[in-house]
Amino acid sequence: MSEPLIVITGASSGIGAATARLLSGHGHPLLLLARRLARLEELGLPQTLCRKVDVTDREALAAAVREAEEQYGPADALVNNAGAMLLSRIADQDPDEWDRMIDLNIKGVLYGIHAVLPGMLARRAGTIVNVSSIAGRKTFPNHAAYVGTKFAVHALSENLREEVASSGVRVVTIAPGAVETELLSHTTDERIKSDYDAWKQSAGGALDPQVVAEAIAYAYRQPPGVTVREIVLAATGQES
Ligand code: NDP
Repeated sequence: MSEPLIVITGASSGIGAATARLLSGHGHPLLLLARRLARLEELGLPQTLCRKVDVTDREALAAAVREAEEQYGPADALVNNAGAMLLSRIADQDPDEWDRMIDLNIKGVLYGIHAVLPGMLARRAGTIVNVSSIAGRKTFPNHAAYVGTKFAVHALSENLREEVASSGVRVVTIAPGAVETELLSHTTDERIKSDYDAWKQSAGGALDPQVVAEAIAYAYRQPPGVTVREIVLAATGQES
């Protein structure tokens, strides 16, 4: 029997790209979303629809999901992974950066849920994987606005899980520590970036994104009656 469709947001790099490769290898057709279409297409995965979608655009996200479902059947999972981390002390940070993170990390996640949840509830099946962070459980220096968004992801995920538990829909929160991706590159303060890099090195390096992809696949591949509610994983040397 052929595997069902999985939707992955932010699949053009890092954790999303690693997850796309892994789940494609498991035989799933995929809908991959990000703003850099060429990077999605460069993955070269079979049975994969790549769409240039900014996940803060609710309509565009829903339309891409509809298009993929027409081609490959209902979405059995959504990996809500697109996110940005713009580090700064609150007093120094341009509020536009708060807006970008809130729109992407919180509203983008909600819009993804909105696009797939009604179908999952109707089918009484489906898995929503929200990629939060250890920064969704505790604070870190220069992370105030970012942790605000990731605490929101943890909270809304757990509340959603409670709401849909009796409907056969699973909600999984993935909470990684530092992962070696492009995430830090969007922070503008060079000092904060170099301090963060030094912190990562002092911990013996960050996780490979493949490890996070495997955690996502582990949770997804449980039998339908089992929900892995949360996976928290970090490099062994990461103390905080
Ligand atoms: P990357 O920067 O490598 O990946 C981020 C992805 O999000 C890219 O594919 C990017 O694609 C996409 N993206 C950004 N903005 C938008 C947008 N407006 N619309 C659609 N897609 C968008 O970082 P990671 O792989 O590390 O990040 C993935 C998730 O993991 C994030 O939610 C992050 O918070 C979380 N995380 C990361 C950790 C880390 O240390 N790296 C630790 C804990 C959690 P494009 O630019 O092409 O749109």
